[in-house]
Amino acid sequence: MTTPETLPPPEMPTGAGFDPETVRRDFPVLHRTVNGHPLVWLDNGATTQKPRQVIETLAAYYASANSNIHRGAHSMAREATEAYEGSRAAVAAFLGAASPDSIVFVRGTTEAVNLVAQTWGRANLGAGDEILVPALEHHSNIVPWQLIAKERRARVVPVPLLPDGRIDQDAFADLLSYRTQLVALSHASNVLGTIPAVREMTALAHRYGARVLVDGAQSVAHFPVDVQALDADFYAFSGHKLFGPTGIGALYGKPEVLTAMRPWQGGGNMIDSVDFGRTTFAAVPHLLEAGTGNIAGAIGLHAAIDWLTSLDRPAVEAYEKALTEYAVRSLATVPGLRLLGSAPERISVLTFTVAGYDPATVAECLDQDGIAVRAGHHCAQPALRHYGLESAVRASLALYNTPREVDALVASLQSMQQRD
Ligand code: PLP
Repeated sequence: MTTPETLPPPEMPTGAGFDPETVRRDFPVLHRTVNGHPLVWLDNGATTQKPRQVIETLAAYYASANSNIHRGAHSMAREATEAYEGSRAAVAAFLGAASPDSIVFVRGTTEAVNLVAQTWGRANLGAGDEILVPALEHHSNIVPWQLIAKERRARVVPVPLLPDGRIDQDAFADLLSYRTQLVALSHASNVLGTIPAVREMTALAHRYGARVLVDGAQSVAHFPVDVQALDADFYAFSGHKLFGPTGIGALYGKPEVLTAMRPWQGGGNMIDSVDFGRTTFAAVPHLLEAGTGNIAGAIGLHAAIDWLTSLDRPAVEAYEKALTEYAVRSLATVPGLRLLGSAPERISVLTFTVAGYDPATVAECLDQDGIAVRAGHHCAQPALRHYGLESAVRASLALYNTPREVDALVASLQSMQQRD
């Protein structure tokens, strides 16, 4: 592969406290080859790769510290419990929550949204109530609301998008009313990259007494989050999109909202005392964590948070911004390439089509060159349909991606076109 001649030179921040090449050394998988080419992992929106600090933490836990938690009366149970609860405290600090008790461990964002829908939603939604959901949301922040809305005879109301992929703020303000019980919106779109004005939208929603759930699946790996500054009622994220393990994530809830919530699953861990006559329950967050949780996952998530927060995050953000701008300019040199979404505030997600090529074919061609991207509807069909599409290609960048990898993407797209 050669660097296309038309490409403008990269203008990357240098010496500013962050070096992607140093970071790449932490990721063993980034040094493998695929189809005879060095791997170019541009599928970070689906899942990020794991640094050795996370891999080693998981291996060490299973090799020398594995135990169930909370109920054991022995040293290893106490150690595992401490590590698990230590992770809860780390997640709380990572999100800017005031207390670890505001953090519920879940499988990931999808489970967090379903938990809120099934507990808070079932208790608080009634006939004629409305849930406002921007049209750019991931299916996991649409379908759980549709399910509970049907049961409670409430309505899911889409908030339209502007052509550049921002949420139409005038429409949002018009749609808000005293019927609105909840606004469910993502902190960054997994298809368009848009970062909505979450703090402002939350403040407006609160004026109508509505609660706000923020889906942080795509934001946490890209910029620091402060749930108290956002004034979010709920905030959800997945560990595997944050350089951590799969099967673990967190739901933040404001203390007064969380403590009013009823259990959604019954079993061990979530009770105080069980009797056939009367069962009493544990306090949150344990109330919402029935059964044995993903103990290793939580400990691995703590390692991922420690790894990420050890970096100079403003420098990482500046680097990702420059890399995204470089990728946008570079992709513009590919004939017939149409990039979806151009919101001024965005993360490093680049979704596109190439005229004359099916997105699945584009992804296959890139895969032949060792470049991993995703093709399809990206679990955000309403967002794609906003652009009249059912399918598109998505290259999603993370802090360990480089201009050289963007060049490889562009060169591979151009050589695909030259082959035909
Ligand atoms: N929300 C957004 C914005 C996402 O991008 C994703 C996954 O791609 C999810 C929610 C669901 O995350 P998970 O599958 O980890 O539950």
